[in-house]
Amino acid sequence: MLSEILQSCQPFGARLIAVSKTKPAEQIQQLYDQGQRLFGENKVQEILEKAPILPPDVEWHMIGHLQTNKVKGLLPYVAMIQSADRWDLIDVIQKEAAKSQKTVRALLQFKIAEEESKFGFDPASFPFQGLSDRLLQYDHIEFCGVMGMASFTEDEAQIRTEFQSLKAIFDRIKSDLTPKQSESFTEISMGMSADYQIALEEGATLIRIGSLLFGSRH
Ligand SMILES: *Cc1c(COP(=O)(O)O)cnc(C)c1O
Repeated sequence: MLSEILQSCQPFGARLIAVSKTKPAEQIQQLYDQGQRLFGENKVQEILEKAPILPPDVEWHMIGHLQTNKVKGLLPYVAMIQSADRWDLIDVIQKEAAKSQKTVRALLQFKIAEEESKFGFDPASFPFQGLSDRLLQYDHIEFCGVMGMASFTEDEAQIRTEFQSLKAIFDRIKSDLTPKQSESFTEISMGMSADYQIALEEGATLIRIGSLLFGSRH
């Protein structure tokens, strides 16, 4: 399955995040041995448990809702926080990164699904105006792009529309950034096991695949 997914990514130049949440280190090691390096988790605790027993060049991506009191513990291990979904969290990431003299890579997570339950900034009320200046104040965060999840539905047209809306948000933000900010603002993280083909067609640069690679979760 890994090679099939990688083949799908190739024409688009997209990269795969293997979502290993709930899966043991041995299964992660198996994919690592096949060359996979980017892994996604949605709980800080799982990253803290797995990172020390897996090779140091694994890139851990935090893709789940993140509590502010967990940021400090996460920073030594995380390559990218994809779920920067509110300003108070971003404030804490900045503060903790500054304390440990780091720059943390992050994606702005947007709510693109119709469903109410998903986390993320609401595009309707997001402060696009003046965003470049606002982001410049976070000098210990490198904003690398956007992340979103489509609705859990069989309706392909709806999923496609939702991915298009995330691409449009990305374009809108990127066009307002300074050249330096824009240079690192390159990622659109969208697409999961059920919808990654659509996501690739609509401009995903990172797809996040769990169950297709690891089997279903219980
Ligand atoms: C679990 C999860 C995924 C992967 O889901 P699958 O359907 O198993 O591929 C992707 N993104 C996020 C944010 C997740 O929580």
